[in-house]
Amino acid sequence: MIEGIFGGTFNPLHRGHLDVIAHVKETFSLTRVHLIPSAIPPHKSFTDLAPARDRFEMVKRSIAGIQGLIASDVELNRKGPSFTVDTIDHFRKNLPPGTDLRLIVGSDAFLEMDTWKQGREIFQLISIIVMIRPDQKKRSKSIASFLKDVISEDYRPGNGQERFTHPVLKPVYACKVPEIDISSTLIRQYVKKHLPLERLVPDPVEEIIKIKGLYL
Ligand code: ATP
Repeated sequence: MIEGIFGGTFNPLHRGHLDVIAHVKETFSLTRVHLIPSAIPPHKSFTDLAPARDRFEMVKRSIAGIQGLIASDVELNRKGPSFTVDTIDHFRKNLPPGTDLRLIVGSDAFLEMDTWKQGREIFQLISIIVMIRPDQKKRSKSIASFLKDVISEDYRPGNGQERFTHPVLKPVYACKVPEIDISSTLIRQYVKKHLPLERLVPDPVEEIIKIKGLYL
């Protein structure tokens, strides 16, 4: 079984998230992808961060019934900032032995992984799928140089620029994802301006934003 873990602020979840997850899931034949809203994102500062439980609820209700997608509240149940290394540790301990676990990250986040808590150690623990958006074509080159210059010079491109292997550390995969011009920032701006959210977010997200009066 190959399973993915995909963390994010999901403030709120939008169709861009769901489309890229579907793409990565299919490309790598992942059995399941766990969506993990961060309780306290360590790398972002927010003026309008919705309560973690509301962000989790939006994720959970939006993916209910989508085969192979699971909402995880593991980061909500921990105190303090949501560090990815702790989440990886949780999944490694709780998934059946032999599960091939892969961390799914956007290329911007990936290129800062050396600044994360135990960021370099993560490369010993888990394979990584780096999502590259079409406007970031040069990214696979920067992934190669980041791996070589910052993580370990023994990382080598395997299959074209798409797979990087290492004699000891875990492989890193680059995955081109379709461009979907939606961000959570855009959604929050739309809510403030009372613009319609249809087609930008799943229905449960719109409902919860309305009921809870988020982002006004
Ligand atoms: P914000 O606008 O608040 O910064 P976001 O939607 O960019 O939010 P997160 O909720 O933290 O960010 O999303 C997690 C990851 O999902 C991002 O790091 C990014 O890689 C990916 N992502 C988000 N939106 C898109 C999109 N439209 N297309 C491709 N990837 C996306």
